[in-house]
Amino acid sequence: METHATASDWNGRLVPYPAERAKRYRATGEWSDLPTGARLHEAALLHGDRTALITDDTTLTYRELDERTDRIAAALGALGLRRLDPVIFQVTNRATTVLAWYGCLKAGLVPVATLAQHRMHEIGDISRKVGAAAHLVEAGLGFDLLEFAREVAQGHPTLRTILTVEAPAGTRGVHRIEDLGAGIRATEARAFVESVEALTDPQDVAVFQLSGGTTGVPKVIPRIHAEYWNNGLLYARALGWDRDTRVAHLIPVIHNAGISCALHAAHSVGATLVLSNPEHVAAFALMARSAVTDVLIGHGHYQAIKTADFDPVLRTLRRTVLSGAKVPADLFRRVDDGDRHWAGQMFGMSEGMFMVSPADSPEIMRATTVGTPIAPSDEVRILDPVGADDVLTGAVGELCCRGPYTIPGYFDAPEHNATAFTSDGFYRTGDLAAIRTAGGRGHISIEGRIKDLINRGGEKVNAEEVELLLMRHPGIAAAAVVAMPDERLGERACAYLVSTSDVELTMLQIQQHMDALGVAKFKWPERLVWVPALPQTNVGKVNKKSLRADVQARLDAESMLEGAES
Ligand code: AMP
Repeated sequence: METHATASDWNGRLVPYPAERAKRYRATGEWSDLPTGARLHEAALLHGDRTALITDDTTLTYRELDERTDRIAAALGALGLRRLDPVIFQVTNRATTVLAWYGCLKAGLVPVATLAQHRMHEIGDISRKVGAAAHLVEAGLGFDLLEFAREVAQGHPTLRTILTVEAPAGTRGVHRIEDLGAGIRATEARAFVESVEALTDPQDVAVFQLSGGTTGVPKVIPRIHAEYWNNGLLYARALGWDRDTRVAHLIPVIHNAGISCALHAAHSVGATLVLSNPEHVAAFALMARSAVTDVLIGHGHYQAIKTADFDPVLRTLRRTVLSGAKVPADLFRRVDDGDRHWAGQMFGMSEGMFMVSPADSPEIMRATTVGTPIAPSDEVRILDPVGADDVLTGAVGELCCRGPYTIPGYFDAPEHNATAFTSDGFYRTGDLAAIRTAGGRGHISIEGRIKDLINRGGEKVNAEEVELLLMRHPGIAAAAVVAMPDERLGERACAYLVSTSDVELTMLQIQQHMDALGVAKFKWPERLVWVPALPQTNVGKVNKKSLRADVQARLDAESMLEGAES
């Protein structure tokens, strides 16, 4: 088969796993020789008539999902898309998103896990960096992604195909996932998929995920066939899932957590995935109707599960995994009654490493730690944040990890890789952690982070990226962005700004500036504080610690004032 993007085009831009580790992971079975699409097919052969997917408007069995995605893959091939062609994904949690995901994988295409909220600043850069050949967008959202896709494609050297979900029939110049492959025979589609799979090397890139990043623009994370599906399988096994499990997911499914803890995890064990968009009233109603047994709850839904809207879900719910921020005691109690309802925590990252509370962990460990790594070969070290030494057992340090599904390097980022990994290949997460021991087993507790980002309801906002964007405004001489606590989202961005003149720009002017630069809205600062100069540390860096304390003091004063007025 003729290909115009090949692994060799990415040579030197991908960091391979060291051969000795690859051999070991193959020997332990943590790596697979099968391509990701073949794993879904395998699941369909085992669980054909069982329900693979439930959304508000669609229910699909494993057989239907497998056959539809074979046809979509064949149609994508017929459109001229070739193995290893990257496809930008800007879609929400829908059945058609799942069809597009598996259809691309089966065609050997590489989904690029961008978000519907991303705009030109993000998509323009990333699509060029990976050499995207197609752009999948969802129609009918508040922002016209179809028009956006046409704009992105202009003057783009590789991008030539626009794919859509939810677009009305007959939409000009696009290919609707809903229509793809309808006229192709099942046997023909299967033969196409198998021809692609015969060419797939287990170490080929399966998916590009995005990192919240520690500096500058988001980094691209290559996940490979050998490990990606198994990441989901290991997660499902850690939680004891089987074909009777019905797992709900209501945060973006295209995120790594969505793929690894929901889509691939559910399908790797024959379970049912109940997929919803985040709006909690509709999501909880669908979960109750679908008799959900398991759910991952991110910080953005911590408040919602305390409301009565969640009561009907509790009738069938067994296991709740909480993730993203420290878990308050009342929240834990809401989903863990020491009897029918079990709660635990998860810590994970698009770069790989996942930890989850073991089923038999004592309650205190499930309530206060993120558990233990999910793969037997996962390795964790807690290092001195400014050195290479391990801290004393129990002390707080930087969480570093290595293992069968944690990347050995970012795509096309040699300089960043030089500092993001230790010399022996441990990924420096930028998170602070400590090991707490119970029953002879070490559990990881997350104690903060050293990387400079804001975690806005699970979406990571890179402070430096936003500061550089703000400083492109002629009215801004200096900018420092810090997290401010927020009850609903966990954190939001607050910008400390120094003006180039006496004029202080309004919030509206800042928003117009970010909009004009094509920056995703979730990165826009949500509070502005104008200062004569930014505070400095004694080594001449911006003193963010004092800015975080300052914004906290402002919030405290405001809530006292509100309390006094009410
Ligand atoms: P992402 O790659 O977007 O999934 O983000 C990974 C990052 O999210 C981690 O490096 C942490 O900073 C943060 N994170 C993930 N899980 C948790 C958790 N349970 N508690 C605190 N932070 C978390």
